[in-house]
Amino acid sequence: MARPLAPSIVVVGSSNTDMVVKATRLPAPGETVVGGTFLMNPGGKGANQAVAAARLGGAVTFVAKVGDDVFGQQAREGFRQEGLDTSWVLTDAEHPSGVALITVDEHGENCIVVAPGANGTLTPDELQRAQSSIAQAALVLVQLEIPLETVARAVALAQAHGVRVVLNPAPARTLPDELLRHVSVITPNQTEASRLTGITVHDDTTAEWAARALHAKGIGTVILTLGAQGALVHHEGQTWRVAAPPVEAVDTTAAGDVFNGALVVGLAEGRPLRDAVDFACRAAAVSVTRMGAQASAPRRAEVDALQS
Ligand code: AMP
Repeated sequence: MARPLAPSIVVVGSSNTDMVVKATRLPAPGETVVGGTFLMNPGGKGANQAVAAARLGGAVTFVAKVGDDVFGQQAREGFRQEGLDTSWVLTDAEHPSGVALITVDEHGENCIVVAPGANGTLTPDELQRAQSSIAQAALVLVQLEIPLETVARAVALAQAHGVRVVLNPAPARTLPDELLRHVSVITPNQTEASRLTGITVHDDTTAEWAARALHAKGIGTVILTLGAQGALVHHEGQTWRVAAPPVEAVDTTAAGDVFNGALVVGLAEGRPLRDAVDFACRAAAVSVTRMGAQASAPRRAEVDALQS
């Protein structure tokens, strides 16, 4: 069967360079520990989601901001190699590219400090310049690693042009009702859903309460991701669970990013919501079977091969 034309997706968000050092244990305050391997990987939730969507067949325009430095150049080059449209990857002449300093211990526990740099200077007016791309998109996807007023503008622009907007509310924080009201689809994990609603999500019942609470704020479709338990969907008065395919998880970093990238590809292709969420769960399941963030994002054939 012929694959539908690549759906156009605009991802608005962050780009970071992750600097990872592995050590036997995390340092205590004031302590220096000697670590082992050092790795430098492209990251940032926006970039991870944009790359995941592109690898799965989306025609992705990435709206982001990097610094005028070697990290920014490398990020931009990486985006080109992944086939992203980088017309709206802006350069900040004053602030450095975003970086994340990550220490991982031998149990996989980590400790992360993010310096947002240029991600924190992407203004609503700069985003506005990408308006024609947003207007033509099948879907817009945005997260919370850029200024909140820019997130709000992305949501408002999408809404003004009748384009569905998916908000991945990560990292966890509270959000104004006025912003949530205009979101078409929201995809929190358990921590984020708890923060947004004040309901501690720890099982199916509390997940459904939180989903209903978000729906009550005016969001048509709520998709709660539940780690190895898959996802819970609340849409048009119905709630259902989607199981995650059973896999041997080795690294769940960026599972949520792959989930969101895949979800927007599925939705932009016009798949029914159930199919799109199932596709997202399968894509995320493939990603947890291997190490890395962006590096673990699967290609289409790998996802199609994993039947849930
Ligand atoms: P999370 O952000 O932890 O809720 O994970 C996002 C999505 O990744 C989940 O909804 C699952 O589809 C997938 N996922 C995460 N962890 C696992 C796992 N151990 N096995 C299979 N899928 C997973």
